[in-house]
Amino acid sequence: MTISAQSGPQSPRLEIHVERIRENARVISSLVASHGASTAGVGKVLRGHEFVVGALIDGGCAQYGDSRIANLAKVKDWRPGIETMLLRIPEISRCAEVVQVADYSLNSSIDTLRALSAACVDLDRRHKAIIMVDLGDLREGVWADDLLGVVTEAKALPGLEIAGIGANLACFGGVAPNPVNMGRLVELASECRRETSLELPMISGGNSSALPMLAAGTMPREVNHFRMGESIILGRNVYDRTPWPGTRQDAIRLVVEIVELERKPSVPIGHRGQDAFGESREFVDRGVRRRAIVNLGRQDAVVSGLVPDDPAMIILGASSDHLIIDVDDCERDWHVGDEISLSPDYGALLALATSPYVGAHVVQH
Ligand SMILES: *Cc1c(COP(=O)(O)O)cnc(C)c1O
Repeated sequence: MTISAQSGPQSPRLEIHVERIRENARVISSLVASHGASTAGVGKVLRGHEFVVGALIDGGCAQYGDSRIANLAKVKDWRPGIETMLLRIPEISRCAEVVQVADYSLNSSIDTLRALSAACVDLDRRHKAIIMVDLGDLREGVWADDLLGVVTEAKALPGLEIAGIGANLACFGGVAPNPVNMGRLVELASECRRETSLELPMISGGNSSALPMLAAGTMPREVNHFRMGESIILGRNVYDRTPWPGTRQDAIRLVVEIVELERKPSVPIGHRGQDAFGESREFVDRGVRRRAIVNLGRQDAVVSGLVPDDPAMIILGASSDHLIIDVDDCERDWHVGDEISLSPDYGALLALATSPYVGAHVVQH
């Protein structure tokens, strides 16, 4: 993603509709607030784009959360007043940077906490650490039996404030939050408070996958912080990717340009071997059809995660640099040079936002 507010009509481009992200942030952070909790808005899928960060904070998020140190560094350059949270477990080798750009970090190793503490002492800083516990999703987190030991050791480290405990679900193992695992998180926090007499004010309960429990009123009251990304940026319930009530799904558009439009048969002619990616494909014979080639390929996006705005378009497939779309059923008479707009899902967006070939265009209203 070439980050520039003026990249204008370059194509392909991501159009970032700032007002829609702000609206979505307001809907999600209000729901979280009605539970008595606060929200870190997560914009890592757009690499901490300045306008996205602004929209999240203006939409009611208490912190900006990102998995990359570089993105948090940009935020501190633009708006030093924004509280930042590093979501990926920090590298020991980068703890000095972490304490300079992140007010909070999520942690699961005492060695890293020691390195953060040393960096704080060196640089005369204070840093808030949240200790993550693994509730079964098997991504990051201290195993529950070891949590108290880690918190106890961390308590003694100078420069560090142990701000609370946290958990992350529905990422690696796909385990959804439920009253049992969230109840366990609360229990573990209580035990740590009791045994260490630390206040541990924050219980950071998870990501967008917590929304259904928040909406149903089944989230334990004690869980008072959430880190929300996809539900705000794309307006989706990450449990099944259905639209989240009250949010918009069109905050991010992908715009591409038609570079060829020809009538061609739908099945290749000639003896077939593997395609450019070592795959053998089946072709549906729809007869001779109008087919558009657009200026996007597998180098830029995960093509299976793209949905054209025109519902009559059929994405046939893509090679490295060419995306082929059947436009024969479209009402509109498409031409070479026309722009097509599509919705990227989270995986497609992740690739698009990091492709140097894809521009980013901010739409203010
Ligand atoms: C990315 C991330 C989030 C945000 O997840 P969404 O599903 O996009 O809401 C929250 N917490 C951590 C640790 C993350 O890495």
